[in-house]
Amino acid sequence: MHKYEQTGVLSSRDLIYPSLKQLQKGVAIIECVQEIPCNPCVDSCPVHAISMKDINAPPVCDYDACIACGKCVGICPGLAIFVVKLKDDKAHITVPYEFLPVPAVGDVVDALDREGKKRDKALVKNVVKKGKTMVVTIEVEQPLAMEIRNIRVNA
Ligand code: SF4
Ligand code: SF4
Repeated sequence: MHKYEQTGVLSSRDLIYPSLKQLQKGVAIIECVQEIPCNPCVDSCPVHAISMKDINAPPVCDYDACIACGKCVGICPGLAIFVVKLKDDKAHITVPYEFLPVPAVGDVVDALDREGKKRDKALVKNVVKKGKTMVVTIEVEQPLAMEIRNIRVNA
């Protein structure tokens, strides 16, 4: 049994880890492991980088094909897709965000890990609305690239 089946929280060890080159290019990290009948992520991808063996199977991202456009991030009802791109000594992480207040570009927010624990501060680099979901790109220190998966905006 995977640890996440007991805790409900994934860790980076549960994921298909991208190579350094793929992370420098930018890739969608799909953190969806439940076997549920869902596939809007597959249909959202303009380069067909996301595939599933069948409608119940967990989706898989072809990291080489992904162009890090972020379209799948806002479309996923499970808020389970993130885009990670390494840049210089930082990492840009694009996360879905459905709380208020919505952050603005230039804000400094709390960077949270998968358990909701604050691990650092993050600089907001981009905010766009995709359907009902805000999609926020933050900048964090590079070692946190595969750990930060949420933000907290301090009003
Ligand atoms: S980020 Fe864009 S290219 Fe990459 S998997 Fe998502 S929709 Fe496809
Ligand atoms: S849209 Fe989200 S929840 Fe649905 S299969 Fe894709 S990653 Fe999983």
